[in-house]
Formats: sequence, C-alpha cells, structure tokens
Amino acid sequence: MVVLKAASPPTVPSVNKINNGYPCSNGTIKPLITPSPSSFINLDQGDPEVFRSYWRKKSEECTVVINGEDLMSYLSDTSNVCWFMLPELREAIQRLHRVVGNASVGMDKHIVVGTGSTQLFQAALFALSPSDSPNPINVVAASPYYSEYQDEVEILRSGLYRWGGDAREYDKNEAYIEVVTAPNNPCGSMRRGVANSSEAEGKVIHDFAYYWPQYTPITQQYDHDLMLFTFSKCTGHAGSRIGWAIVKDIEVAKKMTRFIQMNSIGVSKESQIRVAKIIGVICDSYQEIGSSLDPDELFFEYSRRKLRERWEKLRAVVDKSNLFYLAKYPKAYCTFTNHTSESYPAFAWMKCKGSIEDCESYLRNLKVLVRGGKRFGVDQKYARISLLSSDDVFNEFLTRISNATRNIGNRS
Ligand code: PMP
Repeated sequence: MVVLKAASPPTVPSVNKINNGYPCSNGTIKPLITPSPSSFINLDQGDPEVFRSYWRKKSEECTVVINGEDLMSYLSDTSNVCWFMLPELREAIQRLHRVVGNASVGMDKHIVVGTGSTQLFQAALFALSPSDSPNPINVVAASPYYSEYQDEVEILRSGLYRWGGDAREYDKNEAYIEVVTAPNNPCGSMRRGVANSSEAEGKVIHDFAYYWPQYTPITQQYDHDLMLFTFSKCTGHAGSRIGWAIVKDIEVAKKMTRFIQMNSIGVSKESQIRVAKIIGVICDSYQEIGSSLDPDELFFEYSRRKLRERWEKLRAVVDKSNLFYLAKYPKAYCTFTNHTSESYPAFAWMKCKGSIEDCESYLRNLKVLVRGGKRFGVDQKYARISLLSSDDVFNEFLTRISNATRNIGNRS
C-alpha cells in the first residue's frame, strides 16, 4: 500500500464499480468477473490476481510512505543513461536478478525502466530500427506469438518498422527484428530465435516476461543483447506499470531512453519507489532469513505452489473431459530452487478435440471468455486461458468444464 501522507488514503474503486467490465485492447468492454453460475467469467486477459493473498499478508512490510514534497523532479540520476530511473530501483532490479539468477546484470549492462514492458517493446523497436532506411524494417515472431505484438507494431503505421508475420516463414532478404518470448505467451514453451534469412541482418528482442521461477525452471542466466522484463508478471503488481530492459549496447539504451522521454518524459517515481520496496522485501526474505522461513513465506515458493496446484487441478478436469488437449512440459533442473521441476505457465494453451472447430466460441457458450488462436497467428481450434485469475474465478472455470462434460455425456 502506498500511504499518501498529505491526504487521507484514497480508496481504490473495484473493477465492478469503475465500469461494469474490463476494457480490452480491441476497444470493447468485456463483462465483469463475477463467479456466479449464470455470469460470464473473464479468462481472456492475464490480469494477475492469483498472488494477491500473498501480498495481502505482506501488506505492512511493503508499505511506502511518500511525503508531499517527495519525488517532484523529472530527473533521477543524470549520470545514468536512463536519467529518469531512481538509483534504488536500478539496485533493486540488479539484486533481484542476482538472487534469481535468470539474467546477467553486470557492469557492462544498461538498465532502462519503462511504463510496463509494453512501452519498452515500442522503445526497443524504435531503437533497433535503422533511421536511414527507405523501407520499414520487418518485425517477426514465431506463431503462436503474444497477441499484442502485431497491434503494437501496427498502431502508429510507423515508417520505421512494420509487422512481418510468422518468424518461421520469414524468407525475405531484408533486415528484420525478431521477438522471442521465453517462456512463450501463449503456449508456455521456452524458445530461441528461429527467423532465418541468409543475407539479411536480424536483431532480436528477448521478452522474458515469464522467466521467473514460479512459471518455469530457471535453467540459465541469460545474457542477450536486449532483454525485457516486467514487474506485472514477476510479482503480479501489474498496476504499478513497471518494466525494465537490460541492454548491452549503450547506443541502443540511449535511443530507448530518448523514446521514453518523447513518449512520457520518464516513468512515475511513485511506482519506481514502490517496486524497489517490494523487490527489497522479496530479496530480504531469501538472503537474510530464507532458510528459517516457512516456504509459503517466500514469494517464489508460494507462487510456484499456487500455479502447480492450478495446473494439477486443470489437468485432472481436462483429462476427464476428453474435450481438449493440453501441452506437457519437459522437466528441467532449476538453478534457483536446486530441484528438477515442470513448468507451470501463466496460461493454458488448449486445443479442442474432434469436431469442435472454434475453441473460443465453444467456451463462450459456457460463459467463459478466452482468447482464440487467431489472435496468436494460429487456427481457432486453439485458445489461451489465463491461469492468473482469482481462486473464485479459476474454480468456477473448472466447474464449468466439468459440467460441460457431464452434459455432453448425458446427451450421448
Ligand atoms: N510481454 C508479454 C509476453 C506479456 O504477456 C505481457 C503482459 N501480458 C507484456 C509483455 C506486457 O507487460 P506489461 O504489463 O509490463 O506492459
């Protein structure tokens, strides 16, 4: 909780009170999340509600007090390439990556903070696009790819870059930027770049939104040229809108910083302070008192258990239903937990069996809103289901799949 000292603490309106629904990226409003048997449940967006009860318990520890005169300047650290990033946030991010071991943050790296990794993705496109080319550079991603990339590339009809489609099919002799999402949204698999053009130069953006121990075993410390991370999926604090890029080339980091300057003259310092505080709470629990704590007190242990339980329940219901296929993930040794384990992705990527041709519509008939395969560059037999909802919504989803199976069973 952020306590604003100058005024009484504001009450945060619930989604229900704001607008009776969720705004979607295509401009429509999706109905409310109200898990009663007759209403729609929304598993379309990956709104991270699943870890809320952990953070409720940690409320006081995470409190940040911001006085009336605090954080007033645009500037944070003018000696740094990313001059609007607070030094305490930079240090917290470096500490978190050292604790988890998922990305290299040595002295040779530049960190650029953004208003979510959504802003950083666009900053990266700006920075990696040649400024002197007569044609826009092609931006590609292997299908199924994160549904927002295409819209984010196309929305401004930029002269610098354009959407180039499925990276596996890229065969132009023209420079390109490939976005590699690992683990992938929607399907959860770890990925490498696949675009292959014998003559053209390719640059890669690694989107590591889900490369955290609750979703997948940490198998190596990555050291790519441009890596994106987001606090939204790391801890579930999507509302703080903080993401960061780890960048090798100082010129690229400078151009990304310039883009953010032109776009929003920096990033909210209230958010930066809050994120630094929460990261500190996580790291303290591992570094200072980790071994003596109940595992559920440790954020990544708690969150992994939570997702594992959801996956186990989901697999049991799906196996029984015989309506859908669900991918299996290979086990791997996790250098963070020192155990071998499976992946527990943030989304279930389901394929309908038999005669069901449109998974999204099938689930819509059960009043479950999900995102259909087309949005990810594949066919409608597939759909992505968020596993990040509240417990109530997730349990209602399981009930609806179980009931659907029973109804089909009764008809036959
Ligand atoms: N990349 C991927 C793969 C995502 O799933 C998301 C969030 N759904 C983002 C980027 C954007 O995250 P942020 O909230 O930081 O803008």
